[in-house]
Amino acid sequence: MMFINSILSLPKQLLILSGLFFCLSAWSQRPEADRIMADGKALTIQPVLHGTLVLEYDGKVIYVDPYGGSKAFAGIKKPDLILITDIHGDHLNEKTLDGLGVEGITTLVPQAVADQISEKYKNQLVILSNGEKKSVKGIDILAIPMYNLPESADAKHVKGRGNGYLLQLGGKNIYISGDTADIPEMRSLKDIDIAFVCMNLPYTMNIDQAASAVLDFKPKIVYPYHYRGRPDISDTEAFSQLVKTQNQDIEVRLRNWYPEYD
Ligand code: ZN
Repeated sequence: MMFINSILSLPKQLLILSGLFFCLSAWSQRPEADRIMADGKALTIQPVLHGTLVLEYDGKVIYVDPYGGSKAFAGIKKPDLILITDIHGDHLNEKTLDGLGVEGITTLVPQAVADQISEKYKNQLVILSNGEKKSVKGIDILAIPMYNLPESADAKHVKGRGNGYLLQLGGKNIYISGDTADIPEMRSLKDIDIAFVCMNLPYTMNIDQAASAVLDFKPKIVYPYHYRGRPDISDTEAFSQLVKTQNQDIEVRLRNWYPEYD
């Protein structure tokens, strides 16, 4: 009887096990891209890893801070444009650039990245300084400062070196913070439709600072990104609550920015 019972209960256990496996694997995979209508066309937002994302609009594919190796981009179209915010390995990652085979593809960078990047990538660079605006491949892009507070010469992110970016796609203003504190240049942004805001310690903001800044510049949609740090992953749920309890018009979108790509 025992034997029969255990045989009978086996499929159920298998079902539970496979269900659990499915949940785990679903969480470890890259999340589905979000689609937002912009001027009658779809704007696609694909979280990839940490501070890395892919935007697609009107046939143009933009990689932001490609990192994580080429496997992280499997099944994603090749870029028409690449934006790099800073010199650190989670932003300027030549192993990933090499794996993706993106030599020759227009790449927007701050001067510090241009100084560090290998010779073979130098011809494709468009250099943008903080506060400078350029139209690249028909897309208006403005470089926003990104830096640590209080400002100091030995900060991990010194003012003027890296770029956050503000770009317009289909009339939507999209802000990508890069690695930054809750600087006044962020707090004073206007008319932001979609914002990607970093919140990891010890080098960017904690969730209170990030929420306070977001409540100041009031983007319509905010994605916490770049939230894994030391000692822990930031509590993006708590960030979401902080924002929502004070302004219900801001939509906080929590996505898994740390899938496994092996
Ligand atoms: Zn970073």
